[in-house]
Amino acid sequence: MRALTYEGPYRVGVKDKPDPRIEHPQDAILRVTCAAICGSDLHLLHGLVPDTRIGSTFGHEIVGVVEEVGPEANGIRPGDRLLVPFNIACGACWFCERGLTACCENSNPSSDVACGVFGYSHTTGGYDGGQAEYVRVPFAAVGPERIPDDVDDLDAVTLTDALPTGYQGAEMCDLHGGETVVVFGAGPVGLFAMKSAWLMGAGRVIAVDRVGYRLDFARRWAGAETLDFDTVDVVTAVKDATGGRGADASIDAVGCEAAGSPMQRAVGVLGKAVAGSSVALNWCFHVTRKGGTVSVLGVYGPPFNLVDFGTAMNKCQTIRTGQCSVKRYLPRLLEHVREGRLDPKALITHRYPLEQAPHAYHQFAQKRDGCIKAVLLPHG
Ligand code: NAD
Ligand code: ZN
Ligand code: ZN
Repeated sequence: MRALTYEGPYRVGVKDKPDPRIEHPQDAILRVTCAAICGSDLHLLHGLVPDTRIGSTFGHEIVGVVEEVGPEANGIRPGDRLLVPFNIACGACWFCERGLTACCENSNPSSDVACGVFGYSHTTGGYDGGQAEYVRVPFAAVGPERIPDDVDDLDAVTLTDALPTGYQGAEMCDLHGGETVVVFGAGPVGLFAMKSAWLMGAGRVIAVDRVGYRLDFARRWAGAETLDFDTVDVVTAVKDATGGRGADASIDAVGCEAAGSPMQRAVGVLGKAVAGSSVALNWCFHVTRKGGTVSVLGVYGPPFNLVDFGTAMNKCQTIRTGQCSVKRYLPRLLEHVREGRLDPKALITHRYPLEQAPHAYHQFAQKRDGCIKAVLLPHG
């Protein structure tokens, strides 16, 4: 089959690879119809995630049709159209039983920190991802969800990660009504966090980014006020906008940045950062009021980051974070989509055949050409 392959920092290609096969009785093989590119894939691309091996295939946001099933993938049949949560989960361990599929202890036995994730390095189990014609899906009857006929592939693919993650980010802010929420990053995850914050009763949503077309999108689609961190001092602007007190909650939908990245140059941390830095996270601590909440969705792959923890500690802030346990949000989010309260495919601005994956990565990484979210369509 054809599959995207990692060729070293900043390089991906599309190559021939052996077709995946059933390796365990609970596996299924999926013919991938749609695989999205995520901001998390950029951390892999930038070499920020330890043990990302040459030749591995990325892709953890997958929709497809079942081609083949193992003898114990009960309830899944060839021909089923499935959306696949990015976490690989056994469904039976202590964590899975409590809905914490992002903490499953059987999908990545080599680590007590990270559960299995599709296409996300050997630190999350070394599973190949779905930016390919076919993918092996472990525990296929546990995580994947049959897609209702009235939900198309583009809406469905957002439910595998970006939408539930943004929703979790707002949920972790513990909103009761009327709060001011600042969201750093107007990418797909941040935009979904903004929409979700409104659904949960926020009184004011402020988006921070530097990419003009994304800030426009945040204003238009997510009803947010916006701040361009290239032109204003974000901390002062949020303080001014909140009578000096600071926001009730903030959400980091950015994550670690490669050393020397344009973002780091823009905010002047070049030279201080070693592996990856945490500009947005530190801004969260500074814009959030005393006693407020900082919700961290951004992925932190490198083993250390420059985090201003003292500010958070002294301001008595609550910090919540985590990989999203996608499965537990699916019933309510599917309902929001089917009833028209959320229109997630509006974020999918770009579609590419698999062969153009390197170009798609480039457009998405450089924030070019109005790209919010890009998907690969391996079978056209
Ligand atoms: P994206 O690359 O499309 O968007 C990130 C945005 O952040 C960009 O628009 C960029 O311009 C902006 N940005 C960069 N530095 C900034 C700063 N200092 N302040 C404000 N904005 C800044 O990525 P995405 O797909 O939206 O993902 C966002 C983050 O969420 C990534 O770190 C990703 O790994 C993470 N993520 C986490 C989970 C989870 O389960 N916790 C799941 C999916 C994605
Ligand atoms: Zn993702
Ligand atoms: Zn488990």
